[in-house]
Amino acid sequence: MKHMTLEKIAAACKGRYCGPEEKKQTEIAGAVIDSRQVQPGYLFIPIRGEKVDGHKFIPSVFENGAAAVLSEIKLQDPDGPYILVESTPQALKDIAEYYRSVLTIPVVGIAGSVGKTSTKEMIASVLSQKFEVLKTEGNFNNEIGLPLTLLRIRDCHQAAVVEMGISDFGEMHRLAKMAKPDICVMTNIGLCHLENLKSRDGILKAKSEMFDFLKKDGTIILNGNDDKLSKIGKVHGVTPIRYFTEDGTAKKAQDDYLVTGRDIQNLGLKGMRVSMEFEDETRTVNIPIPGAHNVYNALAGACVGLTLGLTKDEIISGIEHAKTIQGRTNLLDVKGMTIIDDCYNANPVSMRASLDVLSLGNGRKIAVLGDMGELGTEARKLHGQVGAYAAQKGIDVLFCSGILSEEMTKEAKKGGLEVHYFKTRQELTEALLAYVKAGDQILVKASHFMEYPKVVEALVSQA
Ligand code: ATP
Ligand code: MG
Repeated sequence: MKHMTLEKIAAACKGRYCGPEEKKQTEIAGAVIDSRQVQPGYLFIPIRGEKVDGHKFIPSVFENGAAAVLSEIKLQDPDGPYILVESTPQALKDIAEYYRSVLTIPVVGIAGSVGKTSTKEMIASVLSQKFEVLKTEGNFNNEIGLPLTLLRIRDCHQAAVVEMGISDFGEMHRLAKMAKPDICVMTNIGLCHLENLKSRDGILKAKSEMFDFLKKDGTIILNGNDDKLSKIGKVHGVTPIRYFTEDGTAKKAQDDYLVTGRDIQNLGLKGMRVSMEFEDETRTVNIPIPGAHNVYNALAGACVGLTLGLTKDEIISGIEHAKTIQGRTNLLDVKGMTIIDDCYNANPVSMRASLDVLSLGNGRKIAVLGDMGELGTEARKLHGQVGAYAAQKGIDVLFCSGILSEEMTKEAKKGGLEVHYFKTRQELTEALLAYVKAGDQILVKASHFMEYPKVVEALVSQA
């Protein structure tokens, strides 16, 4: 990693280099916090977890060829150089921030309440038509995941696409300080993390910290269909560009749209078709991922592509080859049933989006839903609204487990849905396995802590 000598790393994290003088100029080959990922020449950054203290792996990483380690404690006779720091999590951030500052490739940051990972995948798919792209792995979007992602950038990379997720004020500022995105993309302002951020305006304010480090020649790309984002004017001298879809009712708020989506056709579980209106021509694009929300994600991909000089052919090819990651609208064919595995996480906006996808199925439409976390005092009501929405969308059957989901079941029942409620995921799984049959379309979705991937696993292996 260019410029990443132990001396410079120690300076970046205000640490004290302890080791032989001649090794100070050693350039590290990578930096990780998981000792199992250490390769020869790497820097190991031990973190104190709730269960395990990473410091305990210091001897073994030297055995595996680590160039150096960070440490919060003085080491007796270590097998290699180390940098003594006050806090390793803080040092991780400082080192990533320094590394980013010496990189010259464009960094695209993605924030928003819902759709960050999906949009990241779409943008990365577009940019990879022209560049060697480094993207956030899975959902590594927080104050640990983001610096680790930045530290995965190598000389071969020509662009980076990073996800930035937060749940409180100040966090986005810290993420932006590290990533210093040249292009900031914001997908929407929904209702996540209400416990800390209180209202949509609070959410907007917290996410707008993303612009704190934007350069004058930077770019802001916003979803023009979002009522809050459509009103953002100039930020630090930068006029945002927006993408927008015309679905009959939506009206453009301003005149600064780079790409507009029209004539949106829902191809069911095969995906979406949209006419993309660029400045000089309109092109038909097939998005291979189901769900109307993917039109937004594709338009965001097109805007980033245009900003970084891709041709329309490259942009369209990137969108048409986009893939989902496990747990996000992942379609599985199992014994004649279609399972929509969307169980990585859930909130009121994404629940509705997924119910929209399920409503496109042709067979018996079964929603298997669980609790959504971090919704604050409104939680019960928000669960009830999802239940009512499921009934309204013509879903046939609702299976639920979890304390809050009881409210979801109640409202769904009022709307005329057949409902099956269970206290635990285990009971739900048992009943579901006995209930499903070939031809069913089954959506599985809940917040991470509900462990609904286990429901999908059971369906795949035992149904
Ligand atoms: P997290 O905060 O957990 O990282 P995220 O913002 O990365 O979430 P995704 O994982 O991309 O969001 O999407 C979650 C779900 O939301 C998807 O599986 C899909 O159902 C839905 N979704 C994806 N994109 C959008 C969008 N632009 N608008 C609304 N819903 C979306
Ligand atoms: Mg994500």
